[in-house]
Formats: sequence, C-alpha cells, structure tokens
Amino acid sequence: MALIVHKYGGTSMGSTERIKNVAKRVAKWHDAGHQIVVVPSAMSGETNRIIGLAKEISAQPDPRELDMIASTGEQVSVGLLAIALQAIGKQAVSYAGWQVAIKTDSAHTKARIASIDEAKVKADLDAGKIVIITGFQGVDELGNITTLGRGGSDTSAVAVAAALKAQECLIYTDVDGVYTTDPRVVSDARRLNTVTFEEMLEMASLGSKVLQIRSVEFAGNYRMPTRVLSSLTDPLIPLEEEANSGTLISFEEDTHMEQATITGIAFNRDEAKITVLGVPDRPGIAYQILGPVADANIEVDMIIQNQSVEGKTDFTFTVPRGEYTKAMDVLENSVKAHIGAGSIVGDSKVSKVSVVGVGMRSHVGIASQMFRTLSEESINIQMISTSEIKISVLIDEKYMELAVRALHKAFGLESA
Ligand code: ADP
Ligand code: ASP
Ligand code: MG
Repeated sequence: MALIVHKYGGTSMGSTERIKNVAKRVAKWHDAGHQIVVVPSAMSGETNRIIGLAKEISAQPDPRELDMIASTGEQVSVGLLAIALQAIGKQAVSYAGWQVAIKTDSAHTKARIASIDEAKVKADLDAGKIVIITGFQGVDELGNITTLGRGGSDTSAVAVAAALKAQECLIYTDVDGVYTTDPRVVSDARRLNTVTFEEMLEMASLGSKVLQIRSVEFAGNYRMPTRVLSSLTDPLIPLEEEANSGTLISFEEDTHMEQATITGIAFNRDEAKITVLGVPDRPGIAYQILGPVADANIEVDMIIQNQSVEGKTDFTFTVPRGEYTKAMDVLENSVKAHIGAGSIVGDSKVSKVSVVGVGMRSHVGIASQMFRTLSEESINIQMISTSEIKISVLIDEKYMELAVRALHKAFGLESA
C-alpha cells in the first residue's frame, strides 16, 4: 500500500462524463489498496471565463478580488469529483485550500506555498477516505484566498505530495507525457520516457506549459517522484500498465548524456521587448532602469546592453507580455527623465524559442547549429541568452512555429 497523489488538469475534468472517468480511475487505484489524494483543476475554460467576467468590469481588477473569483473553479471541481466517487460507492471528501491549511504568502495571483497542514488529510486517509483538495489556491496569514499563478494546480499537487511524503505524484493531463516539443505544434514530436529534473525545470521555465515551473521546483526540492501521463485512456486499463506509462522526471544526473545533445525545444509566446535608447553609459544605469521595473513587481527575462558610442548606449530587455504596458508606463514616468534617456521603444509581438538538453554540456557547436538553422529559414535573431543546458533566442512571433519545426528537425528530435 502506498500514498499516491493524482492531479487532473482542466481538460481531464472538462465535463461530467470526464469527471466520472476520473472517479473510475481513482477508484481503481484505491481498490488496489493505495491511499489516494486527488488535486483537480477547474473544468477547462472555467478559469478564463471567470477572470474574463472581472475584466469586463475593470481593466485592472484588484488582485485580491481576482483571486476570490479565480479560485472558485477548483471548488466546483472538487465537489463534483467527490460526488462522482460517492456515486460509485467510494468514501470521498473534498476540501478547499484553506480547509487543509495550504498557507501561502500574500502575493495575490502568484502566491507561493509556505506550508501545508497534513494531519487532517492523514486522518481521513487512515479512515479509508479518498481526499480531494482544490488545486491552484491557498490562504494567506490574514485568511485571504490566494492563487498560485496560471497552471498552479500542478504546484498544489506536488506540494501536497511532498507534505504527505507520498510515494509518487501522478500528473494526469491531455497528452500522454512530456514530448520533445509541444505535440500540438510539431506533430512528429517524440514522447520522452524520462526527462531529467534540470531539463524539465528549463523546459517549464522557458514556456513548456505541460508543468508549471514551481511544481518542478517542488519536485526537485523534495525529490518527489513525479510522472506526467494521460487522463484520456480507458480508466480501467491495468494499473501496472498505467503506473509505468508517460514520462517520469528523473533525478539521476545526466541520464541523456550519451543519447542526445538536445532533449527538447521550448517556446514562449508570452514575451515583449523594450528598448531604452540613448542611455548615458555610466555606472548604476542598469539598476536605475531595472530597479523601478522590479519595484513594480515585473519580472525581467533577457537583457542586453549595447557597446556605447560617444558615451551613450541602448539597453534592451524582455518582460511578460501581460506586463508590457505597465513596464512602458514605469519607464516613461519614473525612469526616462530621471536618467536622461533619449526615447523608449517596444515590441510586444516577439517570441522566445529555446533548445534544451543536459547533453549540451559535453558537445560544442550547438549554438552555431541553432543559428545556422534559423538563418536558413531567414529568421532574424533579436536577442540571445544561454546557460549550460539551454540556448534561447528572441524572434518575431510570426516565425515562432517555423523556428520550432526547423530546429526540431535539425536536431533530429522527431519520432522514428
Ligand atoms: P492541464 O490542463 O492538464 O494542466 P495544460 O494545458 O496545462 O494541461 O498542459 C498540457 C499541454 O501542454 C498539452 O496539451 C500540450 O499542448 C502542452 N505542451 C507544451 N509543451 C509540451 C511538451 N514539451 N510536452 C507535452 N505537452 C506540451
Ligand atoms: N485553473 C487554473 C488555471 O486555469 C489552474 C490550473 O489549471 O492548473 O490556470
Ligand atoms: Mg496545466
């Protein structure tokens, strides 16, 4: 008997029929003698729908109130799943985040989990119940409901698994594992049986939304075995077959070293580029530009500063597209005159494409192969950033899918 956490995403919970299938799958695991905690997302489209209602009323809704609204989708899901399990004869109980004390900080719409009180859940499990806990939400010290950022149910599930010292966290979704790139963009993308923790961290941070990045961080910090697998198979397939399907995040160092240099291609449409022109080139200038941006709680990603000419330089960086207008406002109002910059220009139609692989450490020439491939497709590179195991480029969003396909082919990632 093991304690196992299941997470089901929006598509997996997308209709009452699908929820009944989730109940059958969960019951199968429970019948096999396991203790099961389930962390579902809101039904697909629901979080967008309810956030949309708030945005119909105000362009910049108060984040506390947004969390109040956005968290309700998950509350419907847990109740429906409990009812579906009870309907097939299982004892099940659902809880909202605050009821099992998923404590977070107060950063509304992007809160971080600080602690989880596992005692109540353990008592229910020991009494033979299946416990269902809302994904995506928590509660801060003052009792305000918070949410963990879009895609945050993955993080709830892995955090719950870590707090309960579960044997494994199974992330059920609408694809049957982690692929070399998004299979919806490249049809011959290949499923990976294992992916190293480091690679998964890079892929998630670079835009592969199959797992929210913080869930991967939790998996790493607690060494929680985490597997991504399909919720769309027949719920009654043999348990052993299901338990070994999908993609396991592995904590072994460099398991891919001998196999492939590149493991996957990630992309992120959610980028915007800002350039401050005619900046006086003197010490402290980067801080004077980016300090106010950070104070406005805007995350900066890629950064370049050009060679200065006659004491002036250009300073370019990227921010999430949703924060573009806010960042431009900060620069126009609090930075430009203060530092004596010429003007500020921006482009919110850019995308980032990255190649990722721990094998890169032991191979040279990956960057030049990447740049050659893009140049053969006449795709202009606007910015570059690298780490030991990834190379990212910023390009015009028009060419994003073309770039992903070309790179996927150039690095031989397609299925045989
Ligand atoms: P869920 O609602 O289950 O959380 P998401 O939509 O958040 O599901 O994540 C699953 C989706 O992630 C897939 O449908 C797929 O389009 C996308 N995706 C992006 N990159 C990858 C990748 N490398 N491997 C698998 N899926 C990917
Ligand atoms: N329902 C939330 C969202 O749509 C959380 C999740 O699905 O993981 O972002
Ligand atoms: Mg998701």
